[in-house]
Amino acid sequence: MFGAIEAGGTKFVLAVGAGPDCIAATRTIPTRDPGTTLAEAADWFAAQGPIDALGIASFGPLELDPANSRWGSITTTPKPGWADCAIAGYFANRLGMPIGFDTDVNAAALAEYSAAQAEGCTSLAYITVGTGIGGGLVLNGRPVHGVAHPEMGHIFPRRHELDREFAGVCPHHGDCLEGLASGPAIMARWGKSLSEIPLGHLAHEIIADYLAQACHTLFAATAVEQVILGGGVCKADGLVERVAERTMQLGAGYLPGTARHSVRRPRWGDTAGIAGAFMLAARSI
Ligand code: ZN
Repeated sequence: MFGAIEAGGTKFVLAVGAGPDCIAATRTIPTRDPGTTLAEAADWFAAQGPIDALGIASFGPLELDPANSRWGSITTTPKPGWADCAIAGYFANRLGMPIGFDTDVNAAALAEYSAAQAEGCTSLAYITVGTGIGGGLVLNGRPVHGVAHPEMGHIFPRRHELDREFAGVCPHHGDCLEGLASGPAIMARWGKSLSEIPLGHLAHEIIADYLAQACHTLFAATAVEQVILGGGVCKADGLVERVAERTMQLGAGYLPGTARHSVRRPRWGDTAGIAGAFMLAARSI
C-alpha cells in the first residue's frame, strides 16, 4: 500500500492505494500554512491503515540533491510561509516510512512515461501550461535532475512577428516562455482565457507558436521522443494539435528521430501528478 501527495499552491491531493490504477481513498485539502496543511495530511494518512511508502509530487522550487542536508525541502517559493519548508522530512518523521520526492512536473512526466513505455517510448518531456509553465523530463526511465530540476518555463522563445509589443509577465525575465504563453500572459493581452477566445483569433496562433518553439527546443536539446502538453491552457480547443503541427514546421525535418517525435495530450489527463506520486512512492523502496 502506498500513499501519494500532489502538493500544489492551492490544494493538496492525497491518495492511498496499491497504485494509480488501484486507488483505495482520496482526499483534497486546501493549501493553508505549512503547519496546518502538513498536519492535516499526515493525520489523514495515519488514519488509512498501514502504508509502505509515501510519494510527494510538489510545487517548487525544490532541493532534490540527496547529498544536500536540505533534500526534500521547498526552497525559495514566494508563497507565504512555505519557503524552506522541509516537506519530505516532516512526513518521514510523522509517518516513519520511505519518502519519494520530486517536482509535480517530473512526477507527471514519470506517470506519462510509464504509460508510454507500452508503446516502446523511452523518453519524454511533460510541460504544464497554466498559472505558470513548468516542465519535467524522463530519459531512459529516470527523471532528470542536474544541479537542480529543469525550469523549462523560463527558456526564451523567439518573438512572434505579430506579438512584439507585449512586455511579458514573468517577474524575473519579462518575455520568457512563461512570460509570454502562461494563463496570466494570455489574460494580460486579451482579457480572457484562451478557451474563451474564438478559434479564429490570432491568440491561438501566437500561443501555439511559442509552445511549439518550446517543443522544438526540447526535441533539439534533449532528444526526447514525445512532448506531453498538460495544464489548463492546453485544454483550449485544438491547441495541442496546432502546437504539434507548428513544431514539425519549425523542425523542418532536420532533427534525427523526427519520424518518432510527437506532441500530445496527457494520457493521464489531470491525474498525471498524483499518478506520478504513486510511482515516486514505489521507487523509494
Ligand atoms: Zn521567466
